[in-house]
Amino acid sequence: MKKIIIAIDGYSSTGKSSFARRIATEMEYIYIDTGALYRAITLQLAKTGILTSDNRIDRDAMKQELQRTEIHFQFNEAIQKSETFLNGDNVEEQIRSLQIANQVSYVAEIPEIRAYVDQILRDLGRERGVVMDGRDIGTAVFPDAELKIFMTSDLHIRAERRLKDLLPNQPDATLESVLSNLQERDRIDSSRETHPLMQAPDALLLDNSHLTMDQQMEWFQSILPNYLNDDCNH
Ligand code: C5P
Repeated sequence: MKKIIIAIDGYSSTGKSSFARRIATEMEYIYIDTGALYRAITLQLAKTGILTSDNRIDRDAMKQELQRTEIHFQFNEAIQKSETFLNGDNVEEQIRSLQIANQVSYVAEIPEIRAYVDQILRDLGRERGVVMDGRDIGTAVFPDAELKIFMTSDLHIRAERRLKDLLPNQPDATLESVLSNLQERDRIDSSRETHPLMQAPDALLLDNSHLTMDQQMEWFQSILPNYLNDDCNH
């Protein structure tokens, strides 16, 4: 069967990665969490002091650091999930912290960083058969993706879901801190100059505020056949 690219973009914490992962499992496609790349770079720049706690970045040092930075994903059989490795270290847990979430959008708006990530993503998607979730996959990384979905959801529902995910590892996280992080990231991601977050004209809108995962999958299965035809030019 024809292999396609499925691009899932949308606001922060709308459940893109859970949805994308489930689609990838059902279709036997590769799932790529593109936000993890931006988060890993943010971690590296913070660790080296190139990114300061008030979000200032030494651009020259950043360019040199990027040349020394290697990021890849590795599937962990035990938990049935892909994990992020930064210069050989498993950083999956570290990149999910609220501190990285608070800094990542400042890093992701830098054009050289986006070009670096885009190159990795285009290599990963060369053979198609991938599901990628992010902010600009359908608009900038793979504008020729056969199926594009743009996800949104009520802000408070998103914050509550995110808080639930964070609490086991970060018991001091509060609803207020999560809410303000989501609002700030959405604002920066939507207003940056390079590849801002926006719905591609040919993307399908999915508002999952009141949908369970099974309902989202039902919707997905109902639209999928339209995008697998050889003569489809969506
Ligand atoms: O998806 P996730 O929340 O992990 O993404 C973290 C951040 O990375 C986003 O808030 C955004 O600033 C950036 N990002 C991006 N483009 C993508 C994926 C993520 O700018 N394709």
